[in-house]
Amino acid sequence: MSARVIDGTAVAAGVRERVAEGVREFVEARGGDVPGLATVLVGDDPASQVYVASKRRQTEEVGMRSIHHGLGTATPQDELLELIASLNDDETVDGILVQLPLPEQIDQDAVIAAIDPAKDVDGLTAANAGLLAQGRPGLVPCTPRGVLELLRHAGTEIDGAEAVVLGRSILVGRPLAALLLGADATVTVCHSHTRDLTAVCSRADILVAAVGSPRLVGAEMIKPGATVIDVGTNRTDDGLVGDVDFEPASEVADAITPVPGGVGPMTIAMLLANTLQAASERPL
Ligand code: NAP
Repeated sequence: MSARVIDGTAVAAGVRERVAEGVREFVEARGGDVPGLATVLVGDDPASQVYVASKRRQTEEVGMRSIHHGLGTATPQDELLELIASLNDDETVDGILVQLPLPEQIDQDAVIAAIDPAKDVDGLTAANAGLLAQGRPGLVPCTPRGVLELLRHAGTEIDGAEAVVLGRSILVGRPLAALLLGADATVTVCHSHTRDLTAVCSRADILVAAVGSPRLVGAEMIKPGATVIDVGTNRTDDGLVGDVDFEPASEVADAITPVPGGVGPMTIAMLLANTLQAASERPL
């Protein structure tokens, strides 16, 4: 069997088209008011610069306003917190994205906690994580939201499915588990202390790998006919590879995402969707 490959690039393009349409409707309904996304980049990490440039470009492509703040590597924490406070108060800013990781003199948790939950388009504040954990509406982290979109696009039935999530980070694993639970899957979360990863994974109708370990998931860990979503992004001598050993896994799975071209393009698309959501929920 050779699995259907889920084309994240195409699904992300569809999401961006829907967001662009939503932005046009928003601007018309609000008399010319345009949703705005503020990006904050501290330091000059090349990968972060590329991510932020992409986010800014795609923000403008869907008709929203991009407001960027680039700060030096040695920026003290207080200065960053002051900037976030001013963005919280700025009525032209609907979403605030602080690119992670931050330089070591800055406490990442303190920075996330300073963002107004209504503008927290990364969905990382305790307020939004709490809403998600309780199954209530809020701003949901972009990558997990993108994974759900890919599952729906692939036609994978989530209701009643056995779903296994590999990884329990606040960015991916935990919010994804909450989203799958909210969609009525039976969810198991694995991590570095899980005793028999193969036994747990091979029960999964939906298997999502978000570990950061190249090709950790082999064919023996996949239930025949499963949908496999690979969040992993690992730079190796062979180039960018996922957490799933793609070729052998494709022989067992029904549907699978590639790396690159699977989950990756979805993350920015869902950031745009979150920004439009934040703008739409802003009180008039
Ligand atoms: P993270 O914070 O490092 O978390 C990794 C998780 O994997 C942890 O929960 C860890 O367990 C678990 N783990 C590590 N080794 C394991 C093993 N051998 N068996 C089972 N579990 C294991 O990483 P993250 O931020 O969630 O990111 C995960 C991957 O996704 C990375 O490759 C990252 O680059 C990628 N990513 C991609 C996107 C995208 O847009 N495509 C977005 C975000 C992240 P413990 O909790 O026990 O340590």
